[in-house]
Amino acid sequence: MNSQGYVDTCVFCKVAKGLVRADIVYEREGVVAFKDIHPQAPVHVLVIPAQHITALWEVDETHTVLLSRLLLACNEVAQQMGIAESGYRVVTNAGPDAGQSVDHLHFHVLGGRKLSWPPG
Ligand code: AMP
Ligand code: ZN
Repeated sequence: MNSQGYVDTCVFCKVAKGLVRADIVYEREGVVAFKDIHPQAPVHVLVIPAQHITALWEVDETHTVLLSRLLLACNEVAQQMGIAESGYRVVTNAGPDAGQSVDHLHFHVLGGRKLSWPPG
C-alpha cells in the first residue's frame, strides 16, 4: 500500500480513483458506491471506503468514523435506489469461507426482490 492508502493491483482502489470505470451512485467523505457488475438482485450496489482496507477483519477503532460513514452511505443508497421501504440487505463477505472475491472492504446493498434467508 502506498502513503495515500492505495494498492495499485486492487480493482476497487482503481474504481475509487476513477482508473476503472464504474456506475457510481454515491461519492462523499471517503466513501464510494457503485453498481455491482454481476448484480444478484434488481438493486445491487457496492459501498466501499476510498482507502484500501482488505476486509472487515482489518478494521479497528481508528476506523470508527469511516465505518459509520459506510453504513450511512448504505442507508442513503437504499433510499436513492427506492428500496428503503420495501426492504434491503447489507452484507459484507470477509475471508475465504464467506466467499470474498475482491480483497477491498465492501458492503453489498441488495434489494428490489424478496431475499431468502439463511444465505447459502
Ligand atoms: P465479494 O464476492 O463479496 O468479494 O464481492 C465482490 C463483488 O464485486 C462481486 O459481486 C462482483 O460482481 C463485484 N465486482 C468485481 N469487480 C467489479 C467491478 N469492476 N465493478 C463492479 N463490481 C465488481
Ligand atoms: Zn483496494
